[in-house]
Amino acid sequence: MRTQRQVVDYSLQKRAVLRELLAGRVGTYDVCDASPYLKNAARFHGEPTDRRCPICRSENLTLVHYIYGDELKQSAGQARTLTELPVLAMTLREFQVFVVEVCLGCDWNHLVEQYLLGRDGLTGDSDGTSEQDAAGAEGTSRRRREAQR
Ligand SMILES: [Zn+2]
Repeated sequence: MRTQRQVVDYSLQKRAVLRELLAGRVGTYDVCDASPYLKNAARFHGEPTDRRCPICRSENLTLVHYIYGDELKQSAGQARTLTELPVLAMTLREFQVFVVEVCLGCDWNHLVEQYLLGRDGLTGDSDGTSEQDAAGAEGTSRRRREAQR
């Protein structure tokens, strides 16, 4: 999505939880505790994926997108379908999205990522990005990738 920014990825935390589970330091009932609200949100607003649940391996995961922000007023904290997000992003200046994966089979759930959406992300670099800037950004991310190796 065009205005997506400040992405925080929680896959490391998720892997840590799965490791704890494999090691027997936490039980499945500790991590498979999706609330009825979360499961309803997954059923009615969820985004189906083709990724298998890491716990039961019999159901595919569903992604639920929760939105937060002052501009949302009474809608804050509600789940939205993925198709509704770009519309909101063009209407509002800034709001937070939390993506949670849920298994409707065994109730596994975990935060996947969070990010900001909204028109504020358009300022400056919407369509005026010069080639030089693009090259600079590419160089920076390449250096970052190399640093991680
Ligand atoms: Zn499952």
